[in-house]
Amino acid sequence: MQRIENYINGEFCAPDSGEYLDNVEPATGAVYSQIPESNDQDLSRAVAAAKQAFPTWSSTSIEDRSRLLMKIADAVEAASDELAKAEAIDNGKPVTFAKAVDSYRASANIRFFANACTQFASESHGMGNLAVNYTLRDPIGVVGTISPWNFPLYLFTWKIAPALAAGNTVVAKPSEVTPMTAYLFSKICADAGLPKGVLNILHGSGGNIGQQIVEHQDIKAISFTGGTATGKKLAATAAPMFKKLSLELGGKNPTLVFADCDFDNTVKEVVRAAFSNQGQICLCGSRIYIERSIYDKFKQAFIKQVKQLTIGDPLEKTTQHGALVSKPHMEKVLSYIELAKQEGGKLLTGGNRFTVSGRCEQGFFVEPTVFENLPLDCRTNQEEIFGPVCTLQPFDNDDEALTLANGTDYGLATSVWTNDLKRAHRLSKQLHFGIVWINSWLLRDLRTPFGGVKASGVGREGGFEAMKFFTEPKNVCVKY
Ligand code: NAP
Repeated sequence: MQRIENYINGEFCAPDSGEYLDNVEPATGAVYSQIPESNDQDLSRAVAAAKQAFPTWSSTSIEDRSRLLMKIADAVEAASDELAKAEAIDNGKPVTFAKAVDSYRASANIRFFANACTQFASESHGMGNLAVNYTLRDPIGVVGTISPWNFPLYLFTWKIAPALAAGNTVVAKPSEVTPMTAYLFSKICADAGLPKGVLNILHGSGGNIGQQIVEHQDIKAISFTGGTATGKKLAATAAPMFKKLSLELGGKNPTLVFADCDFDNTVKEVVRAAFSNQGQICLCGSRIYIERSIYDKFKQAFIKQVKQLTIGDPLEKTTQHGALVSKPHMEKVLSYIELAKQEGGKLLTGGNRFTVSGRCEQGFFVEPTVFENLPLDCRTNQEEIFGPVCTLQPFDNDDEALTLANGTDYGLATSVWTNDLKRAHRLSKQLHFGIVWINSWLLRDLRTPFGGVKASGVGREGGFEAMKFFTEPKNVCVKY
């Protein structure tokens, strides 16, 4: 059985403890590899290596850092088929989706920040004839990145790339649930000639090595993407240590469909927004609000398309809906389906575990599931399910749509489907979210600020926001 290794100081190594965790293929339910359960000794070595590498890496010219990151991006792109297949096996997502989204975005992320560091500049504030201020933006030092399982390599690189581009050295932890592409990525970095100690990757469970990374006094900043409950715990640990923190957390995103939308395209895109990646995207629109005059028509067209999604082996090119990431996660999603029924929800389609015959018979598949008749304040509409479950509800006017949309603790993303320009702008201003899409969903420009408000997080990633996070500003005031 394959054993994944940690990547510390440019070397591949077994964990100090000698202990390994099982890694399961969600589509089959079978253990197919093992990952290190790292401990404090592994962390000490990783931090020491990162500290030692920092002076040289942070003073390496921007051109050289950029060139090396470009080389890594090219290598990720060249390996995109292999990485997509690895992601499909490790995560359960359809391989075609993994190729188009995960593999593509991983190389795009690295290439983007390889360019961004060559364009990143700091401010100057003149005080007439008296003085000038200029801002130095220096890398922080050793930083930690902790990422989730839903886009394993995509979100891993989304943090590592700006951290390295800005001149930091990194200790990174992927999710123990989906470690494989992080391991393949460490091999790509080593082959590309990334100097030893610049990037160190530790595998293991979140409550153990993840928590220790956050607690380590020599790790000066943490960029975290994951659930809101974990984010709260992280913040409680890191805040008293005065660590810089970026928290990209959960969502319960509303989709607002108005009667004047482009009907056919809207139905197609709202299905995509609800069920892409089996509903396991922080940005998925799981609360779908539809203007009453088109409610029945929209509902019928929506359900028809949901029923047409092909559920199957993630490795089949025709599969549109793969397995959920793990057995515990599948059980959590199924428990929310039961809860929705208890709360009085009317099941319109789905609602069950799905059996894919053949090699995937024991896989963690759940049918795309749609409910209606559930009020805003029920748990189904308030808590993040993070699976293929959504609810439909009619509204009568813009104000009601706004109240429904804003009516949760979360504030990550929303999409609005309308041809009324004034309404689109007015609602965009009033919707309490970090991201508003008008007549689109998941249309991403990597230069834009990315992140949520309320329980969806603190701070922004993307573009120069990420470069700013991974640098410390210092004002220098020079009197003439
Ligand atoms: P999670 O359980 O919070 O885990 C996220 C990461 O944190 C994993 O690497 C996990 O390790 C680690 N971790 C767990 N406990 C920790 C601790 N005490 N200290 C340090 N690290 C710890 O989240 P998930 O289930 O992987 O991901 C799903 C969640 O991520 C959803 O809520 C989703 O909305 C959110 N998400 C948000 C965004 C965004 O940009 N806002 C994007 C994607 C996903 P282990 O996996 O090894 O336990």
